[in-house]
Amino acid sequence: MKIIVCIKQVPNTTEIKIDPVTGTLNREGAVSIMNPDDKVGLEFALCLKDAHQAHITVVSMGPPQAKKVLYEALAMGADRAILLTDRLFAGSDSLATSLTLAGLLKTLEYDLIITGRQAIDGDTAQVGPQIAEHLGIPQISYVNSLKFEDGYFIAVRQFEDRYQTLKATAPLLVTILGDAAKPRSLHVGRLIEATETESVELKGASDIIVDTTKLGLKGSPTKVKSTWNKVVDKQKNLLEVEPREAVKAIIDTMKKRHII
Ligand SMILES: Cc1cc2nc3c(=O)[nH]c(=O)nc-3n(C[C@H](O)[C@H](O)[C@H](O)COP(=O)(O)OP(=O)(O)OC[C@H]3O[C@@H](n4cnc5c(N)ncnc54)[C@H](O)[C@@H]3O)c2cc1C
Repeated sequence: MKIIVCIKQVPNTTEIKIDPVTGTLNREGAVSIMNPDDKVGLEFALCLKDAHQAHITVVSMGPPQAKKVLYEALAMGADRAILLTDRLFAGSDSLATSLTLAGLLKTLEYDLIITGRQAIDGDTAQVGPQIAEHLGIPQISYVNSLKFEDGYFIAVRQFEDRYQTLKATAPLLVTILGDAAKPRSLHVGRLIEATETESVELKGASDIIVDTTKLGLKGSPTKVKSTWNKVVDKQKNLLEVEPREAVKAIIDTMKKRHII
């Protein structure tokens, strides 16, 4: 079984800064981590490897420093790592990102592609399903559990109020929920060893099957018109009354707002 896991390096915060001029994400100064949903996706792949001797390739699109999360994935048990890095990819929206990743996947063999449901910085949850569309393969999103039995992938999807079990044959893409499993812990020594003994392959636009006019900021149909920070304006109500009356007014207001 050949599995590909898509891993995005993201800033370790949900409060990402946005460049007010270009409207794109500004990652400078932010500590970067493996996107949490993708770490769970990798755990799913590792469990399938434990049970079925699967081969796992991890792929990421990002700047050269995104190598860090791929070494982490190798240290956790992935077999091959590829970083898509090229100036042509800069400023990609979700469509350009998924086209780029799909362009690489077209050059690889796979039975199963795993993505996280969503990335904690971009938050769109579009990239996984878009990759499946570009490749013309079936997809199962919102996956909470996954196993392989008698030639079928059996996935349980989780919704707010119900579960749904689906089975599918390869090739298949699944998007994994972030709370679906606890990723295995990583020994620091293993990470150092992976950095010293394993390698991350670098690939650019000329190595993948893609229309280069559809890449990066120029190829992205989404244009950020303007961005601003949300300011929470607390409702104020000033009463100039005696203390006893003030207590009553406060209690009445809290009751009205269902606080007590
Ligand atoms: C006009 C425009 C310009 C932008 N420019 C930039 C920019 O310059 N820099 C920037 O960081 N962001 C930029 N963005 C944000 C960028 O679109 C998204 O971060 C990116 O396309 C992925 O979308 P997402 O984060 O919502 O991923 P989601 O769809 O939420 O991710 C779902 C899953 O897809 C996979 N995935 C997503 N992205 C990657 C990746 N890069 N590599 C591997 N797997 C991946 C992961 O498995 C992830 O869990 C820009 C957005 C727009 C609209």
